[in-house]
Amino acid sequence: MNVAATRSHHPIHRAYLAVGLAATALYFALPWDSFAQTLVYDAIGASAAAASVLGARIHRPSLRLPWYLFGAGLFAFSVGDVLFNLYAFVWHRDPPVPSIADVFYLAGYPLLTAGLLLLVRSLRSDERRRGRLDAAMLIAAFTLCQWIFVMQGRLHSGSLGEQAVSLSYPAMDVILLAALVVFALTPTWRTVAYRYLGASIVLLIVADEIYGLSPGTYAKTTWLDSAWLLSYVLWGVAALHPSMRELSEPGRAGRPRVSTLRLVMLAAALTTAPALLLIQTATGSRVDTVAIALGGGVLCGLVLLRLTSVIHALDGLRVTEGLARAEAETAQRLLTEQNERLREADRLKDEFVALISHDLRTPLTSITGYVELALEEDLTDEARGFLHVVARNADRLLGLVNDLLFVARLQAGGLSLEPEDVDLAGVVRDGVKALAPRAAAKAISLTCVLDAVPAVHVDRGRMLQVLDNLVSNALKFTPEGGAVHVSLRQDDDCVRLEVTDSGIGIAPDDQRRLFQRFFRAENAIEQHLPGTGLGLYISRVIAEAHDGSLSVRSELGVGSTFRLELPLARAAVAV
Ligand code: ADP
Repeated sequence: MNVAATRSHHPIHRAYLAVGLAATALYFALPWDSFAQTLVYDAIGASAAAASVLGARIHRPSLRLPWYLFGAGLFAFSVGDVLFNLYAFVWHRDPPVPSIADVFYLAGYPLLTAGLLLLVRSLRSDERRRGRLDAAMLIAAFTLCQWIFVMQGRLHSGSLGEQAVSLSYPAMDVILLAALVVFALTPTWRTVAYRYLGASIVLLIVADEIYGLSPGTYAKTTWLDSAWLLSYVLWGVAALHPSMRELSEPGRAGRPRVSTLRLVMLAAALTTAPALLLIQTATGSRVDTVAIALGGGVLCGLVLLRLTSVIHALDGLRVTEGLARAEAETAQRLLTEQNERLREADRLKDEFVALISHDLRTPLTSITGYVELALEEDLTDEARGFLHVVARNADRLLGLVNDLLFVARLQAGGLSLEPEDVDLAGVVRDGVKALAPRAAAKAISLTCVLDAVPAVHVDRGRMLQVLDNLVSNALKFTPEGGAVHVSLRQDDDCVRLEVTDSGIGIAPDDQRRLFQRFFRAENAIEQHLPGTGLGLYISRVIAEAHDGSLSVRSELGVGSTFRLELPLARAAVAV
């Protein structure tokens, strides 16, 4: 059977809980001190012992011994119950003190404690260590109270045997509580089984304590029986609950910290001795100086130890923090150095590009010039065709080199403009006309609607460069048979040039990075459309150098509109 199945298919703990509660109710419904009632009590005790063993068999935890020990401890309790009752129903007398029943009762506690301690031992050692001092403090405080309020009064009363037995019960409670506290303070499994088990032990100890404080009144405090009975039932439920397996697993490690609960515990431990002194004085009982002094001393020592461990932990943290900070500082220094080196490399690259572009431009200009001259000669059609190819490619190269040079100069020290009063409509008309053959070659309808706009004070060459780039892009990224439309109009205090195409469009993510240097959109790269990713960067720089803006609206697969806006304030200067 796999683990998941084991966990979900054992509602046995629920059945046991229901039957246990019903039996407890039945106990109170039956006539008091009847044989049947006694039988129910004994049956519940025995069933808890059986449930412990059964749970271990069904759920197969990695550590079964604790559950067998619980079984044995609960069994000892219920044998004690049976023997106790035998005195009443078979031998018709009160049990002597000490009786054989006491032997079994007292044997139960160490067995339960051993089981609990075994469970705690299965945890990782560092987790155990953390809880141990806290546990010692609580136990010392509880022992001191137990001694003052319960045990001390039983000294020197009755025979030696009676004294031994009556002192053993509260002592056993201390031992069981010790195990419970270690168990509870160990920051690990907070499973359902853990909660049932904890509740059961608490009920057992509370009932024992109340009984211990006033054993004479037990006959009337019938409700105490319900605590003992429920304690049996809950122990059985814990053993039958599937989550009991997790109690033998190492569990997750919590982080050490000084919580409010821990501080409250330290304070409680420190105030126990003075509080006891006050209570004894207030109630007029004999002040037990030796016990209180000894207990108080032990508690102070434990609190001191606990504080030392907190300080050690803090010291450890400080050392770790110091190391981490030193590491961060080193990393920061390295980063700064590397940044500087990168910036230097970047600068060298720009210089190099500027140098190469410049050296490339001169021969390229001469090539295009001579090709133009050669084309004027009398040539065969074939030779003319070849020269046209040379001219087209030289132009492309020149464009590329110009772009690179432009960007390199920009990096080196900005852009120099030669503004003049320009009739933008004229510039646009010329630019569009120059690109008409390219549109025709792709059967793209290239149209424009140009309003008469006021003259603008701009650099004519740069404006032509922007227009050429926008319309060239539109033609490049629009498939054959598409449409490109250019419009120019005045809008309040600016002139607006728009280039709209029915092309491949640009994805929203790419639109955000479109104007960065060398950026090319995914779809352009995928479709092997040529380009460098410099045109739009340059265009935006030019637009902004004129106090204008360049923006895009686009939808993937539908088309794009690039909009250049120039303020008319420049026109006012010019007019
Ligand atoms: P290039 O055209 O040389 O690649 P640009 O800077 O002019 O460089 O354009 C950058 C990128 O923007 C292009 O590679 C392309 O992905 C995208 N792009 C520009 N214009 C358009 C357009 N009209 N339609 C679709 N994508 C475009």
